Order: sequence, then structure tokens, then C-alpha cells
Amino acid sequence: MKIRIVGSGSMWTAFNSASYLIDDDILIDMPNGTCKNLFKMNLDSRNINHVLLTHFHGDHYFDIPFYFLLKSKASNKEVNIYCSKEGKRKNKLLLKLAFPNPAQEILATIKPIYNFQYRFTIKDYVVTKYLVNHGRMKPAYGYIFATESIKVGFTGDTTICKNVEYMASICDYLFCDCTLIKGNKKHMGIDMIASLNEKYSNCKLVVSHLDDSTREELLKIKNDNIIIPNDGVEIIVS
Ligand SMILES: [Zn+2]
Ligand SMILES: [Zn+2]
Repeated sequence: MKIRIVGSGSMWTAFNSASYLIDDDILIDMPNGTCKNLFKMNLDSRNINHVLLTHFHGDHYFDIPFYFLLKSKASNKEVNIYCSKEGKRKNKLLLKLAFPNPAQEILATIKPIYNFQYRFTIKDYVVTKYLVNHGRMKPAYGYIFATESIKVGFTGDTTICKNVEYMASICDYLFCDCTLIKGNKKHMGIDMIASLNEKYSNCKLVVSHLDDSTREELLKIKNDNIIIPNDGVEIIVS
């Protein structure tokens, strides 16, 4: 499994917002600016066929209208969206705000397929969706991608909770929210990542959604199991 870190920062940093590209055609979250950020990395959003959304904050799905428009003009029009039920309405509304006149035409052209299941398959991966705790934003989900030999998880935005612990307990790699130095009710912090690392030492923790001050503190930590990525970095899990 090839994972490209499209973004590793929180909203108010010069880093792109948290988002990950798997094997060139599966994207976890589509923050504002994603299509542009991918072009800057010489990657083409037209190749993305599967988009998994963790929750409906703007820094996780506001580039959907640009992606839909781009796909409607591309020869490969395959669009599969995995999210919670309200996603279909929200994405449509956002598209109408962004491009009022062609919105219906774009949707009729790409015919996005929505999947609201808790377990599904994408190519060779069995994907499971887990409810996490992102404060008042409900629902918020994490995802685990599993093959026979590897398990890779993505927490999305969340504080520490039972399902995040479970994900760390079974995953080889967990890409996790570590926005803060000290975690709160909405986001994890270095304190929570340290406790996950202590309990589940078999799991490599790739921290993301980082505030600048958090990144600075994290870089002082020397621990092979805590990975602090820059935007554009590729991680291979096999
Ligand atoms: Zn959020
Ligand atoms: Zn966020």
C-alpha cells in the first residue's frame, strides 16, 4: 500500500490540510485546495475514483465541487464517495454554491455513487468505518484498510476514544489527528499520542492535522514509532 501525505497540517498553517492519497486513486478527505495541491505535487485528481470523507467540516470536504467539475470533463468519470448519510445532500449543496448553473449537469454526467456502509471493499482492501469522537461534530469517522497482511488506519479528526484505541491495537500504521500539544474534547494532542504509543507499541503512529506549535514540539521527540511527515511524503506499507 502506497500512502502519499497530501496534507499534514491543521487549517491555520502553511501546510496543506490533512488528507491522504492511497495507491494514486483513493483519497481520504478532500479539504479546500486539494485539487490544486495535488497538481502542485504532479498528481492528477482526475485519477481519483474513490473519496472517503471522515466528517463534514470544511477542511475535510470543501474541494468536492472542484473534483466533481474536473471529473465531469475527464474521460474517467468514476466517482465513489464513502461517508455518512448527510454527505450526499451536503456535497450537492456545496456544488450548487460553487457552480450554480452547471451543477445538475455535472451530477448527471458523473453520477456519483454513494456508500454509507460500515464495511465495504475498495479493490483489494476491506475497509471498515469506525465512529470516533470529534466533540459536537457528529458523526465523525475513522477508517481501517485491511489486506491479508496489513492494516492501515486513519482516525480523521478525533479526541482519544475507545475506537481510536481499538484502531491502534490492531493496525500496523495509524494516521492520526495530533492537532494540539495537549489534547482536548475535539482533537488529540501529543499527550494522547504518547499514551497510545505506550500501550500499542506495535503500531506506528503517523501524526497529522498538526498545528505549527505541535509540530515543533513533536520534532523534539525521538521515537521510531511516531512519524512526523511533511506534505508530499510517501509511505509504503507492506
Ligand atoms: Zn473537524
Ligand atoms: Zn479538521
